[in-house]
Amino acid sequence: MFGYLDLLEEIANLKRIGVEVGSIGKSTLGQQIPYVFVGDKQLPCMIVQAAIHAREHLTALLALCQAKHLVATRPNMLGAIYFVPMANPDGVRICQEGVQWIADKDIQHSLVQTNGQSNDFSLWKANANGVDLNVNFDANWGTGEQNVYYKASQSYVGPSPCSEAETKALVDFTLAVKPLVTISYHCKGEVVYWYFGQTRHRKWRDERYAKAIAKHTGYTLVEGDDGSAGGYKDWCIQKLRIPSYTIEVGSDNLPHPLPYSHFEPILQANLDLPRRLLNSVVRDHNKLSAGGLLGAMDLD
Ligand SMILES: [Zn+2]
Repeated sequence: MFGYLDLLEEIANLKRIGVEVGSIGKSTLGQQIPYVFVGDKQLPCMIVQAAIHAREHLTALLALCQAKHLVATRPNMLGAIYFVPMANPDGVRICQEGVQWIADKDIQHSLVQTNGQSNDFSLWKANANGVDLNVNFDANWGTGEQNVYYKASQSYVGPSPCSEAETKALVDFTLAVKPLVTISYHCKGEVVYWYFGQTRHRKWRDERYAKAIAKHTGYTLVEGDDGSAGGYKDWCIQKLRIPSYTIEVGSDNLPHPLPYSHFEPILQANLDLPRRLLNSVVRDHNKLSAGGLLGAMDLD
């Protein structure tokens, strides 16, 4: 199992060999939310974020491996990538370790209560406030089909849009680095979500990349928004008007949390996806800036 302390160790190792690492901000319980930067600061960038849902911690290892792969192989990159492998570090620790690591007894007690008086947090998705971070963003907030309006292990939208420290950190970081495109890793189902109300050119553009992602990974495209609201992808599409994708890794037949014995094929299907998608987006961006037209495409 890949945990927050493992991530910190990996981040320290990357720093030691000269890779730029840092923090996008602090979690509800004051833990740093690390990022890894790969590429050239002068070039346009992409954000890859994972493990915003606690029990989907296998995706943190995926994003870290993607970053390490680029560091090790130094392939041709037309842009740069910020990896945020664990957007919800408190949640991941709660899911994997329970509540004993939390110093404040009141918070421990409240979390156990929110978890139905159970000490088994292995299916926990939320942050330390019982808010589901991926329905807390300011994009049709509170209107999602699965939304709930009380603290829970999943699906609670929070008291207001962007109420949570982790949401705010990701929003501020995204506004600061201005990505051309983002990927959010979740599990499970081997599907790609890309739609959140885009029309005309943006719909055509974003679906075009989505089809290329589906082809590259072998995953299935989801038609429509599937009742989604308040997600990071939704916010990127609605407020920043950039292409933004949620990729659900792992077969639907597997249980949560996804067993690490199934990590290898997930890694192989996704290892080089961020770079390929980014290269395509940058290439198109340059072509359009020069007055050209876009045609059919593959990812490299
Ligand atoms: Zn998820």
